[in-house]
Amino acid sequence: MTKDELKDLLMNRKNSSLILSDEEIQKAYDFCEGYMKFMSTAKTEREVNVFAINEAKKKGFKQFNFGDKVNVGDKIYFDNRGKAVILAVIGSDSLENGVNLTAAHIDSPRLDLKENPLYEQDELGFFKTHYYGGIKKYQWTTVPLSLHGVIIKKDGEKVIVNIGEDENDPVFVVTDLLPHLAQNQMKRPASEIIRGEELNILIGANCVKGEDLNNRVKANILQILNKKYGIIESDLLNAELEAVPCYKAKNVGFDCSMIGAYGHDDKVCAYPELCAILDIQNPKKTAVAILTDKEETGSDGNTGLNSSYLKYFLEDLAATFGANPRLMFSNSKCLSADVNSAFDPTFPDVFEKANSSFLNYGVVVTKFTGARGKSGTSDANAEFVAEIHHLFDNENVIWQNGELGRVDLGGGGTVALYMANLNIDTIDVGVPVLSMHAPFEIVSKLDTYMAYKAFYVFQK
Ligand code: MN
Ligand code: MN
Repeated sequence: MTKDELKDLLMNRKNSSLILSDEEIQKAYDFCEGYMKFMSTAKTEREVNVFAINEAKKKGFKQFNFGDKVNVGDKIYFDNRGKAVILAVIGSDSLENGVNLTAAHIDSPRLDLKENPLYEQDELGFFKTHYYGGIKKYQWTTVPLSLHGVIIKKDGEKVIVNIGEDENDPVFVVTDLLPHLAQNQMKRPASEIIRGEELNILIGANCVKGEDLNNRVKANILQILNKKYGIIESDLLNAELEAVPCYKAKNVGFDCSMIGAYGHDDKVCAYPELCAILDIQNPKKTAVAILTDKEETGSDGNTGLNSSYLKYFLEDLAATFGANPRLMFSNSKCLSADVNSAFDPTFPDVFEKANSSFLNYGVVVTKFTGARGKSGTSDANAEFVAEIHHLFDNENVIWQNGELGRVDLGGGGTVALYMANLNIDTIDVGVPVLSMHAPFEIVSKLDTYMAYKAFYVFQK
């Protein structure tokens, strides 16, 4: 064999900034401008749901309810309680030949307010929180936070809360101990440097003046809340309020090649997935994009993918065409669109390099996830893995393989198994992320654009 022939035998992964033309790189950067705007405005599942539906309506998507009649060429969306949404473009092919699904989640780790959150301690006002998803709790102190969500009043009115994002808004924060007095705190294990019940958000310090009153700071805050939102303390029991970092998405690096933001997991897959289905025109196979909630807490609950909402949607779609739903499920294919852990040179020990994903090396195709002997994974079949790899190769989608870290060091799951359990061929395809689940996560612009390309060529 010649030297060149021998070279061909070896696998050769390459940095996409080496392979892509300047034109393509510019395209990726332009795409990411839209992504960064989106990331600065839609931070929670409810806000992404609204964003997605608004964009879909602009492109001619119509609301679909169970039982509605649907025709070939229709563009529809199904709104699941304002917290998850399914978008579909009905193809010309019979549904019995299957649909092409993409599935990303739109919830991200954060601090949720407790049901009865408001209290005063030593003349400071606080909100009690219960963290949502897997976080390193110490990372969430001294980060400026905004509050997002809804409060349902007694008369049924829904108050939308979004405070801390506007330049003129106040922000909120979890305090931490000064190093001078942290001698004992620093001896705690890292998982307890800040404990769950210490994630208390500072929300006020001024007192109500006038007659004798206990809890003057709390009373002052309630007075402000009443003026601003028309609520009383007991209304907070009927609310979902989420504290998230208040800053906007930022360019990272002298070369501006990366994006730092809160909630890339999994909006860096959700946004490309949304853009892809909005760009799909007259597909042969029906294209379905799922933006789901509750992945970060295990996908349970009626807005998570472990519930039946996707199954009902697809079965209902099959029924309107008189198609056999079992055939539809069996012939369907899904890209489970979730992020992966990018190799971090500062912490090389937790990665096995040959099976890790790298920033700028394209979308990560992950055959299996899970932990300890692949527990909790759907493990895609080699035949389907090959189909996706070949599709990406033929369509010039730059991709890499990658597992979430070394064997037995941890691991994690995605929503892949919920589609696979419906007898749908499913594989994970997503964007590599640095500092995943931190208040400020990092992705590469080229990888983000490649995710769009991957989802688009899969569904077009
Ligand atoms: Mn995720
Ligand atoms: Mn996650």
